[in-house]
Amino acid sequence: MTPQNTPSPTSYLRLSKITKYFPGDPRPALRDVSLELRRGAVLALLGESGSGKTTLLRLVAGFEPLSAGTIELAGALIGSRHRAVPPEQRGVGMVFQDTALLPHLTIMQNVAFGLRRLSEDARQQIAEQTLKRLHIADLRDRFPHEVSGGQAQRAAIGRALAPKPSLLLLDEPFNNLDPVLKWEMLHELRAVLLETGTTALFVTHDRDEAFTIADTMALLRRGHVEQAGDAETMYAAPASAFVARYLGAVNLIPVQRRGSALTSALGVLDGMKPFQYRGVDTVSVRPWQLSIARIDPGPDADHNGAAGVRGIIRAFRFMGEYHEVRVQAATNSDVQELTVHATGTLRFRVGDRVVVALRGADASP
Ligand code: ADP
Ligand code: MG
Repeated sequence: MTPQNTPSPTSYLRLSKITKYFPGDPRPALRDVSLELRRGAVLALLGESGSGKTTLLRLVAGFEPLSAGTIELAGALIGSRHRAVPPEQRGVGMVFQDTALLPHLTIMQNVAFGLRRLSEDARQQIAEQTLKRLHIADLRDRFPHEVSGGQAQRAAIGRALAPKPSLLLLDEPFNNLDPVLKWEMLHELRAVLLETGTTALFVTHDRDEAFTIADTMALLRRGHVEQAGDAETMYAAPASAFVARYLGAVNLIPVQRRGSALTSALGVLDGMKPFQYRGVDTVSVRPWQLSIARIDPGPDADHNGAAGVRGIIRAFRFMGEYHEVRVQAATNSDVQELTVHATGTLRFRVGDRVVVALRGADASP
Protein backbone atom coordinates (compact mmCIF):
# COMPACT_ATOMS: atom_id res chain seq x y z
CA MET A 1 0.00 0.00 0.00
CA THR A 2 2.08 2.85 -1.30
CA PRO A 3 0.96 6.47 -1.37
CA GLN A 4 0.72 6.27 -5.18
CA ASN A 5 -2.24 3.95 -4.78
CA THR A 6 -4.24 6.56 -2.90
CA PRO A 7 -7.03 7.63 -5.21
CA SER A 8 -8.27 10.56 -3.17
CA PRO A 9 -6.20 12.82 -0.97
CA THR A 10 -9.23 13.49 1.19
CA SER A 11 -10.04 9.95 2.16
CA TYR A 12 -7.33 7.57 3.28
CA LEU A 13 -9.49 5.41 5.48
CA ARG A 14 -13.06 5.03 4.33
CA LEU A 15 -15.70 3.11 6.23
CA SER A 16 -18.92 2.72 4.26
CA LYS A 17 -22.17 1.58 5.86
CA ILE A 18 -20.55 -0.81 8.26
CA THR A 19 -22.91 -3.08 10.14
CA LYS A 20 -21.89 -5.68 12.67
CA TYR A 21 -24.02 -8.36 14.27
CA PHE A 22 -22.61 -10.66 16.91
CA PRO A 23 -23.94 -14.23 16.91
CA GLY A 24 -27.07 -14.62 19.00
CA ASP A 25 -27.74 -10.89 19.33
CA PRO A 26 -30.56 -9.53 17.17
CA ARG A 27 -29.41 -5.96 17.78
CA PRO A 28 -26.41 -4.86 15.74
CA ALA A 29 -23.36 -3.67 17.68
CA LEU A 30 -22.76 -1.29 14.78
CA ARG A 31 -25.28 -0.04 12.29
CA ASP A 32 -24.58 1.77 9.00
CA VAL A 33 -21.41 3.42 10.21
CA SER A 34 -19.79 5.60 7.55
CA LEU A 35 -16.66 7.58 8.33
CA GLU A 36 -13.75 9.03 6.41
CA LEU A 37 -10.31 10.04 7.46
CA ARG A 38 -7.66 11.79 5.43
CA ARG A 39 -4.07 10.69 5.45
CA GLY A 40 -2.09 11.87 8.47
CA ALA A 41 -5.18 12.92 10.40
CA VAL A 42 -6.44 11.73 13.76
CA LEU A 43 -10.08 10.80 14.26
CA ALA A 44 -11.45 10.45 17.77
CA LEU A 45 -14.14 7.81 18.14
CA LEU A 46 -16.14 9.08 21.04
CA GLY A 47 -18.96 7.34 22.86
CA GLU A 48 -20.27 5.84 26.06
CA SER A 49 -19.30 2.40 27.20
CA GLY A 50 -21.03 -0.18 24.99
CA SER A 51 -21.58 2.22 22.08
CA GLY A 52 -19.46 0.08 19.74
CA LYS A 53 -16.08 1.85 19.74
CA THR A 54 -13.92 -1.22 20.37
CA THR A 55 -15.96 -3.28 17.92
CA LEU A 56 -15.31 -0.69 15.22
CA LEU A 57 -11.56 -0.75 15.90
CA ARG A 58 -11.53 -4.55 15.80
CA LEU A 59 -13.31 -4.52 12.44
CA VAL A 60 -10.78 -2.05 11.03
CA ALA A 61 -7.92 -4.16 12.40
CA GLY A 62 -9.43 -7.27 10.83
CA PHE A 63 -10.05 -9.21 14.04
CA GLU A 64 -13.78 -9.50 13.36
CA PRO A 65 -15.72 -10.12 10.15
CA LEU A 66 -18.15 -7.47 8.90
CA SER A 67 -21.85 -8.22 8.57
CA ALA A 68 -22.23 -5.54 5.89
CA GLY A 69 -20.39 -2.55 4.48
CA THR A 70 -16.83 -1.97 3.34
CA ILE A 71 -13.50 -0.77 4.69
CA GLU A 72 -11.00 0.85 2.35
CA LEU A 73 -7.50 1.80 3.35
CA ALA A 74 -5.20 3.75 1.02
CA GLY A 75 -7.48 2.98 -1.89
CA ALA A 76 -7.58 -0.77 -1.33
CA LEU A 77 -10.62 -2.72 -0.21
CA ILE A 78 -9.47 -4.48 2.96
CA GLY A 79 -12.79 -5.54 4.42
CA SER A 80 -16.25 -6.47 3.25
CA ARG A 81 -18.60 -9.37 3.86
CA HIS A 82 -16.80 -11.31 1.16
CA ARG A 83 -13.27 -10.11 1.45
CA ALA A 84 -11.20 -9.74 4.60
CA VAL A 85 -7.50 -9.00 4.36
CA PRO A 86 -5.91 -10.76 7.36
CA PRO A 87 -4.88 -8.46 10.24
CA GLU A 88 -1.14 -8.95 9.75
CA GLN A 89 -1.41 -7.81 6.11
CA ARG A 90 -3.25 -4.58 6.92
CA GLY A 91 -0.19 -2.85 8.34
CA VAL A 92 -2.24 -1.59 11.24
CA GLY A 93 -0.70 -0.83 14.65
CA MET A 94 -2.69 -1.15 17.86
CA VAL A 95 -2.44 0.19 21.40
CA PHE A 96 -4.87 -0.90 24.08
CA GLN A 97 -5.86 0.27 27.53
CA ASP A 98 -3.98 -2.60 29.12
CA THR A 99 -0.61 -2.80 27.51
CA ALA A 100 0.37 -6.23 26.41
CA LEU A 101 4.14 -5.82 26.46
CA LEU A 102 5.90 -9.15 26.32
CA PRO A 103 7.10 -9.72 29.89
CA HIS A 104 10.24 -11.69 29.00
CA LEU A 105 11.51 -9.02 26.59
CA THR A 106 13.16 -5.72 27.52
CA ILE A 107 11.57 -2.39 26.62
CA MET A 108 13.98 -2.16 23.68
CA GLN A 109 13.16 -5.69 22.51
CA ASN A 110 9.46 -4.98 22.85
CA VAL A 111 9.74 -1.87 20.69
CA ALA A 112 11.80 -3.81 18.12
CA PHE A 113 9.31 -6.68 18.17
CA GLY A 114 7.37 -5.60 15.08
CA LEU A 115 10.56 -5.12 13.07
CA ARG A 116 11.49 -8.78 12.80
CA ARG A 117 11.65 -8.64 9.02
CA LEU A 118 14.38 -6.00 9.02
CA SER A 119 18.11 -6.52 9.37
CA GLU A 120 19.54 -6.48 12.88
CA ASP A 121 21.15 -3.08 12.25
CA ALA A 122 17.96 -1.50 10.93
CA ARG A 123 15.94 -2.91 13.82
CA GLN A 124 18.39 -1.53 16.32
CA GLN A 125 18.42 1.89 14.71
CA ILE A 126 14.65 2.28 14.38
CA ALA A 127 14.01 0.97 17.88
CA GLU A 128 16.53 3.39 19.35
CA GLN A 129 15.04 6.32 17.44
CA THR A 130 11.59 5.36 18.63
CA LEU A 131 12.71 5.05 22.27
CA LYS A 132 14.29 8.49 22.08
CA ARG A 133 11.26 10.07 20.51
CA LEU A 134 9.09 8.71 23.31
CA HIS A 135 11.60 9.73 26.00
CA ILE A 136 12.23 6.22 27.26
CA ALA A 137 15.73 5.66 25.86
CA ASP A 138 17.11 5.24 29.39
CA LEU A 139 14.69 2.38 30.05
CA ARG A 140 15.81 0.29 27.09
CA ASP A 141 17.23 -2.60 29.12
CA ARG A 142 14.49 -2.79 31.72
CA PHE A 143 11.74 -5.38 31.70
CA PRO A 144 8.07 -4.34 31.59
CA HIS A 145 7.58 -5.02 35.31
CA GLU A 146 10.42 -2.61 36.08
CA VAL A 147 8.76 0.47 34.56
CA SER A 148 5.74 2.59 35.55
CA GLY A 149 2.33 2.36 33.88
CA GLY A 150 2.96 5.52 31.89
CA GLN A 151 6.37 4.30 30.74
CA ALA A 152 4.91 0.95 29.73
CA GLN A 153 2.27 2.77 27.70
CA ARG A 154 5.01 4.80 25.98
CA ALA A 155 6.72 1.53 25.09
CA ALA A 156 3.44 0.13 23.75
CA ILE A 157 2.99 3.21 21.57
CA GLY A 158 6.61 2.85 20.44
CA ARG A 159 6.10 -0.78 19.58
CA ALA A 160 3.03 0.08 17.48
CA LEU A 161 4.72 3.06 15.77
CA ALA A 162 8.14 1.55 15.03
CA PRO A 163 7.03 -0.45 11.96
CA LYS A 164 5.47 2.76 10.52
CA PRO A 165 1.93 1.43 10.43
CA SER A 166 -0.43 2.49 7.64
CA LEU A 167 -2.90 3.21 10.41
CA LEU A 168 -2.63 3.37 14.19
CA LEU A 169 -5.57 2.26 16.31
CA LEU A 170 -5.65 3.29 19.95
CA ASP A 171 -8.33 2.01 22.33
CA GLU A 172 -8.58 4.21 25.43
CA PRO A 173 -4.82 3.91 25.89
CA PHE A 174 -4.52 6.32 28.80
CA ASN A 175 -7.48 5.25 30.93
CA ASN A 176 -5.29 3.78 33.63
CA LEU A 177 -3.00 6.79 33.97
CA ASP A 178 -3.43 9.54 36.51
CA PRO A 179 -4.85 12.79 35.07
CA VAL A 180 -1.67 14.89 34.96
CA LEU A 181 0.30 12.14 33.23
CA LYS A 182 -2.62 11.47 30.92
CA TRP A 183 -2.65 15.06 29.59
CA GLU A 184 1.09 15.05 29.18
CA MET A 185 0.89 11.79 27.20
CA LEU A 186 -1.99 13.06 25.07
CA HIS A 187 -0.11 16.17 24.02
CA GLU A 188 3.04 14.19 23.36
CA LEU A 189 1.21 11.56 21.37
CA ARG A 190 -0.44 14.26 19.29
CA ALA A 191 3.00 15.72 18.53
CA VAL A 192 4.46 12.31 17.64
CA LEU A 193 1.54 11.48 15.35
CA LEU A 194 1.93 14.80 13.53
CA GLU A 195 5.68 14.46 13.30
CA THR A 196 5.46 10.94 11.86
CA GLY A 197 2.43 11.72 9.67
CA THR A 198 0.61 8.80 11.22
CA THR A 199 -3.08 8.35 10.47
CA ALA A 200 -4.85 7.29 13.64
CA LEU A 201 -8.18 6.29 15.13
CA PHE A 202 -8.27 7.14 18.82
CA VAL A 203 -11.06 5.66 20.94
CA THR A 204 -12.15 7.49 24.06
CA HIS A 205 -15.28 8.19 26.09
CA ASP A 206 -13.88 11.55 27.18
CA ARG A 207 -14.62 14.65 25.14
CA ASP A 208 -11.57 16.52 26.45
CA GLU A 209 -9.31 13.71 25.26
CA ALA A 210 -11.03 13.88 21.88
CA PHE A 211 -10.56 17.66 21.71
CA THR A 212 -6.89 17.29 22.64
CA ILE A 213 -5.84 14.50 20.31
CA ALA A 214 -8.05 14.68 17.26
CA ASP A 215 -8.55 16.62 14.04
CA THR A 216 -12.07 15.32 13.63
CA MET A 217 -14.38 13.28 15.78
CA ALA A 218 -17.31 10.93 15.54
CA LEU A 219 -19.74 10.38 18.38
CA LEU A 220 -21.14 6.86 18.49
CA ARG A 221 -24.42 6.12 20.19
CA ARG A 222 -25.72 2.56 20.44
CA GLY A 223 -23.76 1.52 17.39
CA HIS A 224 -24.52 4.38 15.07
CA VAL A 225 -22.79 7.66 14.34
CA GLU A 226 -24.83 10.36 15.99
CA GLN A 227 -22.64 13.08 14.45
CA ALA A 228 -19.19 13.36 12.92
CA GLY A 229 -17.12 16.36 11.97
CA ASP A 230 -14.72 18.85 13.41
CA ALA A 231 -14.91 19.52 17.12
CA GLU A 232 -15.93 23.15 16.87
CA THR A 233 -18.85 22.47 14.58
CA MET A 234 -20.09 19.62 16.72
CA TYR A 235 -19.79 21.73 19.85
CA ALA A 236 -21.40 24.85 18.40
CA ALA A 237 -23.95 23.18 16.13
CA PRO A 238 -24.78 19.78 17.59
CA ALA A 239 -27.13 17.65 15.52
CA SER A 240 -29.07 16.45 18.55
CA ALA A 241 -29.55 16.98 22.26
CA PHE A 242 -27.40 13.88 22.83
CA VAL A 243 -24.42 15.43 21.01
CA ALA A 244 -24.99 18.79 22.71
CA ARG A 245 -24.87 17.17 26.15
CA TYR A 246 -22.02 14.81 25.41
CA LEU A 247 -19.78 17.70 24.44
CA GLY A 248 -20.38 19.86 27.50
CA ALA A 249 -22.77 21.62 29.83
CA VAL A 250 -25.66 22.99 27.84
CA ASN A 251 -29.02 24.72 27.97
CA LEU A 252 -31.55 23.22 25.58
CA ILE A 253 -33.63 26.18 24.50
CA PRO A 254 -36.92 25.77 22.61
CA VAL A 255 -37.14 28.09 19.61
CA GLN A 256 -39.85 29.27 17.25
CA ARG A 257 -39.17 29.90 13.60
CA ARG A 258 -40.17 33.36 12.41
CA GLY A 259 -39.25 33.37 8.75
CA SER A 260 -35.52 32.82 8.69
CA ALA A 261 -35.07 34.02 12.29
CA LEU A 262 -35.31 31.96 15.44
CA THR A 263 -36.93 33.49 18.47
CA SER A 264 -36.82 32.17 21.99
CA ALA A 265 -37.31 33.19 25.59
CA LEU A 266 -33.74 34.49 25.43
CA GLY A 267 -34.53 36.70 22.45
CA VAL A 268 -33.60 36.31 18.78
CA LEU A 269 -31.00 33.62 18.12
CA ASP A 270 -28.92 34.20 15.04
CA GLY A 271 -27.04 31.62 13.03
CA MET A 272 -28.08 28.58 15.04
CA LYS A 273 -29.27 25.29 13.64
CA PRO A 274 -32.21 23.83 15.55
CA PHE A 275 -32.67 20.11 16.16
CA GLN A 276 -35.74 18.28 17.36
CA TYR A 277 -35.88 17.64 21.09
CA ARG A 278 -39.02 16.37 22.78
CA GLY A 279 -40.92 17.20 19.62
CA VAL A 280 -39.94 20.87 19.41
CA ASP A 281 -37.28 22.87 17.59
CA THR A 282 -34.43 23.36 20.03
CA VAL A 283 -30.99 24.94 20.04
CA SER A 284 -28.00 24.41 22.27
CA VAL A 285 -26.81 27.42 24.24
CA ARG A 286 -23.65 26.90 26.29
CA PRO A 287 -23.59 28.27 29.86
CA TRP A 288 -20.75 30.66 29.02
CA GLN A 289 -22.84 32.16 26.22
CA LEU A 290 -25.21 33.62 28.82
CA SER A 291 -24.88 36.65 31.00
CA ILE A 292 -26.57 37.11 34.33
CA ALA A 293 -27.59 40.32 36.12
CA ARG A 294 -29.44 40.95 39.35
CA ILE A 295 -32.79 42.68 39.23
CA ASP A 296 -32.59 45.12 42.09
CA PRO A 297 -35.65 45.08 44.29
CA GLY A 298 -37.91 48.06 44.06
CA PRO A 299 -41.07 49.23 42.36
CA ASP A 300 -39.50 48.97 38.89
CA ALA A 301 -38.22 45.45 39.39
CA ASP A 302 -40.69 43.83 37.02
CA HIS A 303 -40.50 46.57 34.43
CA ASN A 304 -36.92 46.03 33.52
CA GLY A 305 -37.16 46.09 29.75
CA ALA A 306 -34.04 44.04 29.00
CA ALA A 307 -34.41 40.89 26.89
CA GLY A 308 -33.85 37.62 28.67
CA VAL A 309 -35.32 35.16 31.07
CA ARG A 310 -36.18 36.27 34.57
CA GLY A 311 -35.51 33.88 37.36
CA ILE A 312 -34.30 33.13 40.83
CA ILE A 313 -30.89 31.75 41.69
CA ARG A 314 -31.35 28.27 43.06
CA ALA A 315 -27.74 27.23 43.51
CA PHE A 316 -24.22 28.04 42.55
CA ARG A 317 -20.95 26.21 42.72
CA PHE A 318 -17.37 27.35 42.43
CA MET A 319 -15.79 25.40 39.57
CA GLY A 320 -12.35 26.98 39.38
CA GLU A 321 -12.48 29.05 36.21
CA TYR A 322 -16.11 30.05 36.74
CA HIS A 323 -19.12 29.78 39.01
CA GLU A 324 -21.83 27.49 37.78
CA VAL A 325 -25.08 29.30 38.54
CA ARG A 326 -28.45 27.55 38.34
CA VAL A 327 -31.40 29.78 37.71
CA GLN A 328 -35.01 28.73 38.06
CA ALA A 329 -37.07 30.63 35.48
CA ALA A 330 -39.64 32.79 37.26
CA THR A 331 -41.76 33.64 34.25
CA ASN A 332 -44.00 31.12 32.55
CA SER A 333 -41.59 30.85 29.66
CA ASP A 334 -40.96 27.42 28.19
CA VAL A 335 -37.50 27.46 29.77
CA GLN A 336 -37.53 25.80 33.19
CA GLU A 337 -33.97 26.07 34.41
CA LEU A 338 -30.86 27.73 33.04
CA THR A 339 -27.22 27.09 33.78
CA VAL A 340 -24.89 30.07 33.51
CA HIS A 341 -21.12 30.09 33.85
CA ALA A 342 -20.28 33.38 35.51
CA THR A 343 -16.65 34.44 35.52
CA GLY A 344 -15.03 36.86 37.92
CA THR A 345 -16.19 37.49 41.45
CA LEU A 346 -19.62 36.11 42.13
CA ARG A 347 -21.83 38.88 43.43
CA PHE A 348 -24.98 36.82 43.85
CA ARG A 349 -26.78 34.89 46.54
CA VAL A 350 -29.21 32.04 46.40
CA GLY A 351 -32.68 33.55 46.14
CA ASP A 352 -31.57 36.61 44.18
CA ARG A 353 -33.86 37.65 41.35
CA VAL A 354 -31.92 37.84 38.12
CA VAL A 355 -32.27 38.19 34.40
CA VAL A 356 -30.36 35.81 32.17
CA ALA A 357 -29.64 36.95 28.63
CA LEU A 358 -27.49 36.02 25.69
CA ARG A 359 -24.09 37.63 25.71
CA GLY A 360 -23.18 39.79 22.75
CA ALA A 361 -22.13 38.06 19.56
CA ASP A 362 -18.49 38.77 20.38
CA ALA A 363 -18.73 37.04 23.75
CA SER A 364 -16.08 34.47 24.44
CA PRO A 365 -15.65 32.18 27.40
P1 ADP B 1 -17.34 0.14 23.62
O1 ADP B 1 -15.94 -0.18 23.21
O2 ADP B 1 -17.87 1.41 23.02
O3 ADP B 1 -17.51 0.14 25.11
P2 ADP B 1 -17.97 -2.43 22.45
O4 ADP B 1 -17.61 -2.28 21.02
O5 ADP B 1 -17.04 -3.16 23.31
O6 ADP B 1 -18.32 -1.00 23.07
O7 ADP B 1 -19.39 -3.16 22.53
C1 ADP B 1 -20.48 -2.77 21.73
C2 ADP B 1 -21.59 -3.79 21.89
O8 ADP B 1 -21.21 -5.01 21.28
C3 ADP B 1 -21.91 -4.13 23.33
O9 ADP B 1 -23.30 -4.27 23.44
C4 ADP B 1 -21.20 -5.43 23.56
O10 ADP B 1 -21.84 -6.20 24.52
C5 ADP B 1 -21.27 -6.08 22.21
N1 ADP B 1 -20.12 -6.98 21.96
C6 ADP B 1 -18.83 -6.60 21.86
N2 ADP B 1 -18.02 -7.65 21.61
C7 ADP B 1 -18.83 -8.74 21.54
C8 ADP B 1 -18.62 -10.14 21.31
N3 ADP B 1 -17.40 -10.62 21.06
N4 ADP B 1 -19.70 -10.95 21.32
C9 ADP B 1 -20.94 -10.46 21.53
N5 ADP B 1 -21.22 -9.17 21.75
C10 ADP B 1 -20.18 -8.31 21.77
MG1 MG C 1 -14.24 -0.41 24.41
